[in-house]
Amino acid sequence: MFSNKEDFKQAFSERLQTDLGKKVESASEVDAYRALGSLVKDEMNRNWLKTARQYEESKEKQVYYFSMEFLIGRLLGNNLLNMQLLSLVKEGLEELGFSLTELEEEENDAGLGNGGLGRLAACFLDSLASLGYAGHGYGIRYKYGMFDQRIIDGYQVELPDRWLAREFVWEVRRPDEAVEVRFGGEVDMVRTKAGRLECHHDHYEQVRAIPYDVPVVGYGNDTVNTLRLWSAEATDHDTLVKASKDDDFNNFLEHKRSLEEISEFLYPDDSHEDGKRLRLKQEYFLVSAGVQSAVRNFERLNLPLASFPEHAALHINDTHPALVIPELMRILMDDHGLGWEEAWEITQASVSYTNHTTLSEALETWPVGLVRSLLPRIYMIIDEINERFCQSLWEKHPGDFDRIASLAIVADGFVKMAHLSIVGSHSINGVAKLHTDILKKREMKIFYDTFPERFNNKTNGITHRRWLLHSNEPLSKLITDSIGDQWIQEPERLEDLMQFKSDRSFLKELNGIKQQKKEELADFIKGYAGIQIDPASIFDVQIKRLHGYKRQLLNALHIMHLYNQLKTDRRYKMTPRTFIFGAKAAPSYHFAKKVIKLIHTVADVVNNDPAVNNQMKVVFLPNYSVSLAEKIIPATNISEQISTASKEASGTGNMKFMMNGALTLGTMDGANVEIHELVGDDHIYTFGLSSDEVLEYYKNGHYSSRQVYEQDDRVRHTLDQLIHYSPFSKGETEFQDIYDNLITFNDEYFVLKDFASYIDTQARIGKDYKDVNLWNKKSLINIARSGKFSSDRTIQEYASDIWKIQPTGILK
Ligand SMILES: *Cc1c(COP(=O)(O)O)cnc(C)c1O
Repeated sequence: MFSNKEDFKQAFSERLQTDLGKKVESASEVDAYRALGSLVKDEMNRNWLKTARQYEESKEKQVYYFSMEFLIGRLLGNNLLNMQLLSLVKEGLEELGFSLTELEEEENDAGLGNGGLGRLAACFLDSLASLGYAGHGYGIRYKYGMFDQRIIDGYQVELPDRWLAREFVWEVRRPDEAVEVRFGGEVDMVRTKAGRLECHHDHYEQVRAIPYDVPVVGYGNDTVNTLRLWSAEATDHDTLVKASKDDDFNNFLEHKRSLEEISEFLYPDDSHEDGKRLRLKQEYFLVSAGVQSAVRNFERLNLPLASFPEHAALHINDTHPALVIPELMRILMDDHGLGWEEAWEITQASVSYTNHTTLSEALETWPVGLVRSLLPRIYMIIDEINERFCQSLWEKHPGDFDRIASLAIVADGFVKMAHLSIVGSHSINGVAKLHTDILKKREMKIFYDTFPERFNNKTNGITHRRWLLHSNEPLSKLITDSIGDQWIQEPERLEDLMQFKSDRSFLKELNGIKQQKKEELADFIKGYAGIQIDPASIFDVQIKRLHGYKRQLLNALHIMHLYNQLKTDRRYKMTPRTFIFGAKAAPSYHFAKKVIKLIHTVADVVNNDPAVNNQMKVVFLPNYSVSLAEKIIPATNISEQISTASKEASGTGNMKFMMNGALTLGTMDGANVEIHELVGDDHIYTFGLSSDEVLEYYKNGHYSSRQVYEQDDRVRHTLDQLIHYSPFSKGETEFQDIYDNLITFNDEYFVLKDFASYIDTQARIGKDYKDVNLWNKKSLINIARSGKFSSDRTIQEYASDIWKIQPTGILK
């Protein structure tokens, strides 16, 4: 344990020598990163073991958070921060000639997620450990994470993310904790002499799930929880048998590959399910390995199975791990001999479910034939759950076929994963107030009417440790210098900053920090994208997955409109702006890729036109990721959260920006509604249709985008530039698809309907920004009111309302 700088310097130098055979003077940045990582991991080890022992001895309840995605990002800086070793290590390294910031850049992002859902899981792990809750993540150790995005000629090109090419210093392979997962084969129910039905499963294919454990260290305590990532390996036994039978080495390799591909790559689709067989295999692989492991941990306590729900909570992040329900039933019945009723009671009492979306294209359904052939025993159990559920509905509502048909888990040849998740869990939560209301009143209304007590809201959050304390050190320092450091343990104390809202000198300091961050980002962008931007301009940022409903297109069309104004009216003056984008499109999402091309085309025109480029610039930063977000967010003035109302379940990017003093330009959607509630009309820029209006239009079909096009000159002129000769189209038909989407297919996401209101609001922002003092006051109020969005608050709510747990980790 190094408790002072000199000890650290010595330990670090020794580690360089023993692990890498390097002297400090000749060590490269990579060497130093690896030595430091391995040293820090060892430091965590003691508390990791201690925490595990404490959990086992106390027999307290453990939460297992099942998620197909954990978008972790880098760990070095955050681990040091949470261990409160950051400044000691930083200074020690400096004395040895290294910069910690540069070493941090050597770490590859662990990009094991698509976007918000995966990032939420990562924030939750940080909060669980920091609050001392016994909560662990179960996920997949994808060999390739979220793809590496390159831009060629304005188009997105996907390259594999080889994040493991450089050793991942934080993981520990745990073959002693491996389990077997079975696919395919045949199942027979055989009656034993004693008269019991026994399940016989034969001719299955077996794959070994090997856990790689990653320590999750709490802030300022001694709790170290575990993120367990499962990797698929061909079992020696199975592959050998197969190989000797066929006596063919190629078959052997083929078979091995087919098993190991289960944990090969992350599906890069956000908010879209394509029903691929390999994806279903991944889901069951995670679920089966995780449930077996959770049950095994419980068995170590030597308690009766009936008490399982008092010792384990299985939480499913969206429906992707919904097979947890039949898998736990299978283990309880087939491996432990429990009867249906008893197993069902235990399962329901253990499982809880978070819904993340109401987008129909994102709702998971699996063809019955696929589930039955890949997971025969699991399908039998799902079928039985469905039968019993429909039976119980029939008893309550005899003859109400419509109700039963719309609630059934298996219908029209598909298994509906959301229905399975609702029926099999004791808690179902949405991720923001508006989203939960929409679930209750519309999307899941009949389920809500059936099980009202199960539905609840848990507004998302973000860890203020990564997203403020670590990513924005100067702002954190200003806060601590002015209100003390209690806000770090208790983020709602940020409210104490309100006392400075009219303090000119404080606001000036706040402004100075934003300016410093903007200059840093401008430098970064110069090197990363080769574009020179003006740090005095408004940094107007939209970074998130590219999707129709998130409406990057609205943002791009507004920029085209501004360009037109500057070009046609020489007296037109605007407050200088830099528009910054970052977004990955799903590789198969044609429209989204066209929008990326449009943004690049607009950037090209604007940035190269001397008549406008002193007033505006457009930058697309490739390969948006957690570490890029950490650089951009502290430097942002305007946070674009412009989804079609009702479509963005919560958003979490909006919270990160608010906490860093950006003002939200947003629709009344997701958690924007709660931001508005906290800061009031004067400190947020809202525009556009409300969710009720949007949902009403969908119902009555009265929206006509063509009508907007015909009535609004600005809309018509801008859209015509997509298809007629213009600086943007250059006579090509490149953007015909975008035009068609908006006009021919009636603009599903109401881009044109909200266009006028968006332009007006943007113009108001331009004016307001000029009053520096007023702007900084707005910024301060956002920071001060952002404490609610710490994931610590969210996790405390999950802990008390859903999981029923108290802190049982090692608190200092
Ligand atoms: C926070 C975050 C997201 C989610 O952003 P939204 O604006 O809420 O969609 C996606 N990707 C990364 C890398 C993030 O850090």
